[in-house]
Amino acid sequence: MQNSPVRVRFAPSPTGELHIGNARTALYNWLFARHHGGRFILRIEDTDQERSTAAFRRNLIDDLRWLNIDWDEGPEKEGDYGPYLQSERLNIYHSYLQNLMDEGLVYPCYCTEEELAEERKRLLAMKKMPRYLGKCRAMTKDEREERERQGEKPAYRFKVGREKIEFNDMIRGPMQFDGEAIGDFIVMRSSGLPAYNLAVVIDDHLMKITHIIRGEDHLSNTASQLMLYNALGFPHPRFCHHSLILGTDRAKLSKRHGSVSVGEFRKRGFLPEAMVNYFAILGSSLPGGEIHSLQETISLFRIENLGRGGAVFDEGKLKWVNTTYLRGDTPASFRRRMTPLLSPYLLGGLPPERIDAFLDLIRPNMDNIHDLERYMSLLAEEPFQADHDAAQVLSQPQSREILTALYQLLSPLDSFTLSNLGQVFKTLAAMTNMKGKELYMPIRAAITGITYGSEMDKLLLFMDRDLILKRLGKLVASYTANNDT
Ligand code: GLU
Repeated sequence: MQNSPVRVRFAPSPTGELHIGNARTALYNWLFARHHGGRFILRIEDTDQERSTAAFRRNLIDDLRWLNIDWDEGPEKEGDYGPYLQSERLNIYHSYLQNLMDEGLVYPCYCTEEELAEERKRLLAMKKMPRYLGKCRAMTKDEREERERQGEKPAYRFKVGREKIEFNDMIRGPMQFDGEAIGDFIVMRSSGLPAYNLAVVIDDHLMKITHIIRGEDHLSNTASQLMLYNALGFPHPRFCHHSLILGTDRAKLSKRHGSVSVGEFRKRGFLPEAMVNYFAILGSSLPGGEIHSLQETISLFRIENLGRGGAVFDEGKLKWVNTTYLRGDTPASFRRRMTPLLSPYLLGGLPPERIDAFLDLIRPNMDNIHDLERYMSLLAEEPFQADHDAAQVLSQPQSREILTALYQLLSPLDSFTLSNLGQVFKTLAAMTNMKGKELYMPIRAAITGITYGSEMDKLLLFMDRDLILKRLGKLVASYTANNDT
């Protein structure tokens, strides 16, 4: 198996949005395949028919594509080992189940949900590991036939042996599980749908998967799966169980920690390259710093170097990586990303070179691509409201003085240019005897409604003259009104 070409897979269940923990698993598999010149397979594990939906499948595929994690075989990219949807492979699982039945390695189980829950409760009360104690294993042939006659549909369970299960994990080293501790597990549900452990072993074998890279939450499944490999006479692949992503409280990352799906980060304006770079350094390190091109990441990636401890998700760090990518983007690529987000106001109102100049101006003050929307609303939208900090600035006495003077200076101008605005600011400085931040902050607060952002005089050139005067005029009027009362 060692010398066969690397084939790895990502096998998500389409029961929810793509969690960043799963996206990281997908990336590790993808990097491993690309590093070794192997193949990366996408397989959809949709045998849980109650929870799997076509919409979630679509969403998984779209999010993986957005991250640029492409697959060599899988849905919408057929290969030699398909179908790649488990729901289309049910006859395959049944034929292997038959083999196991013929060899007496599985048995039908008629226990009801209630009986199983009762057993579980009893074991827990005795402080014992909950597991199936094998009630139906000892059923006689006659008893089974009687149940059949009654029309009862059994599940099928695998007869777990007492032997120890051992394997060498590529990240965690030698692992050992005690067969005694594992109850006979279900391989086929009474509905005729396979259990995860059976389907995954058959598919990984038939799809010639050489390395199984997945989260450590699957470690105990690996023990059950190895029993099935042995029972079915399949050679073992190599296993690598990576750490899980944790929240800052070191609990498994979940919704209560904030955004957890790729889709949420996508909507919040993060760049796919930044997400991929962050996943590659989350819980492990790559030599030579934290920012790496994809090519570098592929060549530096070593599965053995992934950390064993939980990887604490640090949104601040992800934001930093994202900002680094945004600032480092080439002008052409930046324009390509931004164009779909530009408002018709800008696209219709400005020639292309002015749009480029606008993007150049705001880029140093952007943390994610949706910051662009904030700038566009400043530029072209009413109603307008100053945020808390800006309102604070505007309530100070010198703001009134500066803005009243500015309004008087700007009103007679038909249009704004770099030179006439330069003149206005010079005059304003002389009139008020103020300069720098002291002078510009009230103007920024009045016209943009926030206290940070791109260079003010340059930003004004992209704004509509009437809009600027309208915002200033309203403020000046409110100062006068307040004074009169
Ligand atoms: N469908 C399983 C999951 O999403 C796959 C686990 C595995 O990689 O074997 O957890």
